[in-house]
Amino acid sequence: MDMIVPQSKQTWTDYAIPGAKALRDAFQRIAIVARYRSMADFAEQEIILPDGPYQGQRFRIARQPAHGAFFREVDSGNWFRYACTGPQQSGKTLAFVVIPILYHLFERNQTVLFGLPSMDMANDKWKLDIKPAIEASQFAKYLPRKGAGSNGGTPELIQFGNGSNLKFITAGGGDEKRAGFTGPILVVTEVSHLDQVGGTSDEATKLKQMEGRVRAYRASGQARIYLESTVTIEQGRIWQEWSNGTAGEVVIQCHACDEWMSPGRDNLIGWQDAETEDVAELNSRWACPCCGILFDDATRLKQLANCKVKHKGQLILPDGTITGQIVPSKTMGFRYSAATNTFVTAGIVGADEWKGAREVDQDNAEKELLQWTWALPAKPKEQDVEPLDFRTVMHRQSQWKRGLMPSDVVTIAAGVDVREKQLDWFVTAKRANGQPLCIDYGFEPVLREASDLKTALKQAIRYLQEKFDKGWEVEGRPGLRGIDIALIDIGWETDTIREGLNEHQLWRRAKGFGFKQHAGSSYVAPQNKNRQMHQIGEGWHDVILIRGNKRFRELENNADHWKRRVHQALTVAADSSAALLLPKTEKVEGRIEVAKQLTAERETTQFEVGKGTVRKWVQTFTRNHLLDACYMSFVGLSVAEYESEKARKKAENTPINGVISGKKAEPFVRKRK
Ligand SMILES: [Zn+2]
Repeated sequence: MDMIVPQSKQTWTDYAIPGAKALRDAFQRIAIVARYRSMADFAEQEIILPDGPYQGQRFRIARQPAHGAFFREVDSGNWFRYACTGPQQSGKTLAFVVIPILYHLFERNQTVLFGLPSMDMANDKWKLDIKPAIEASQFAKYLPRKGAGSNGGTPELIQFGNGSNLKFITAGGGDEKRAGFTGPILVVTEVSHLDQVGGTSDEATKLKQMEGRVRAYRASGQARIYLESTVTIEQGRIWQEWSNGTAGEVVIQCHACDEWMSPGRDNLIGWQDAETEDVAELNSRWACPCCGILFDDATRLKQLANCKVKHKGQLILPDGTITGQIVPSKTMGFRYSAATNTFVTAGIVGADEWKGAREVDQDNAEKELLQWTWALPAKPKEQDVEPLDFRTVMHRQSQWKRGLMPSDVVTIAAGVDVREKQLDWFVTAKRANGQPLCIDYGFEPVLREASDLKTALKQAIRYLQEKFDKGWEVEGRPGLRGIDIALIDIGWETDTIREGLNEHQLWRRAKGFGFKQHAGSSYVAPQNKNRQMHQIGEGWHDVILIRGNKRFRELENNADHWKRRVHQALTVAADSSAALLLPKTEKVEGRIEVAKQLTAERETTQFEVGKGTVRKWVQTFTRNHLLDACYMSFVGLSVAEYESEKARKKAENTPINGVISGKKAEPFVRKRK
């Protein structure tokens, strides 16, 4: 070592003052360390597990070494903000939320702000996670005996006997107006779900609002912010915070190649070729992503006992020395995954993968595995197959002009959508080969100038009934042919429409259920037939309602399902027998309007954690009435077919003249006709 030789121009104080300062700093650091325990020591010495497989026992880092790695990083004091994630049901709430809260409340006697997506969650989090942990510990004596938090009610502020406070906060819910309550410690749970409430601002803004409350403590170095969440999507808050922070990952050392690694989803081997779930569980092994050696859970658990955290920019040498420059960031990103989670085995994860690969809803199964098991963001949703465009739809014309149908039509069904100014209607004829053809569509005005709404509505229905009874031309045949069935929506002005139908045999009352219909209540198909319900078809069933001395039969239907059917029929190749074609017309404006209305809604799928893939219909054009009328005509075709099939079966089983019956009778019955 070189000696430092003072230069002649400098005085001795140039050396003595910085030296004294360095000494003072060192003493202060030691003093602080001595005053408080580390979070790791606190956790092992104070936390008693309130539930789970080790209920009543002390918290032991050895059970989930990844959590110990997290505490070590926090205790290093290198960062003041932590963005943490891990697999579901791996104890991450305890490690990232409950223990930090208890540590700051009782070891450091600090005020802790606890941020949640909504106040509704506060009660659950307090009662199920935090309070039981306090009750199991020696700090139970500090729990308030009276007031908030002692029992019942949604806690907002809990004041403990040691003088520390726990304040529950949300963002975007009007609570930030009372932003007066500040503190040095902020713990936010489910940060990727902050956006689910309020809806106006995004997650980043809401998080910023919460973080504003610890601002005053930043300069003094007291502030600490803990963010925890399940991973959602790449754009989700936790993944953004983690990856823009140090993106630290828990790694283990390979016993074969000495590399520090963490097997990913591609490194779980054996379940892929399994014939059964049991075999998948039995055959699953971890593979080192560096050298490829396969290893079992016993080896993995040994490796995990010495796990380390590798941050972005770091390299860990075989002897465990960490080198390299961590990316400069105030946020420590911390993540562990299936391979670094002791609460699962290769077999459990392999069996889940095997089952997931066989789920009907592939997208959903895939997302759940990524987010819940591997703590990875779900891949962005695949684009909808060729969004239905009105420009394409308007060119889907049959060879028959409006008002004319081919001679092979089997069933004709009409759908009628009701609104204040007009009844929009759509007539679909089904050909012998199953092809749906639109033979006519339009609207019947509700003439309110002459009378009141009820009378005008009934009048409009009457006109339509006459029109549908009269019917349309059939190619190559004399006369006209009318409808077999008509469905009219009774979601609005229900009683008037019930009366207006005037016991017309072919007209049915229909009620659509779906994302957009009737306050968004979704359709639930009945399990069994009963007295009130005797027909259950594809996405529809009928119910019998009694109002006074009148019986009504109504068709409840799954609007979303049938709109999907319509859009499928508008998407398949125009020369397919499943293609819905519009009547031939030269009038371009008319074709544009009907095409726009039929494509006025679009089905989208989005993934919501805890719910899986949610399908929603989004309206993209204001006038969507013909889509409703069209899907109802489709339901009508389904009902008519169901009923004719039922009638056919009934006829088969009805004895004729007491001599022969059923199938044997068929040829004779036909001949007699
Ligand atoms: Zn290896």
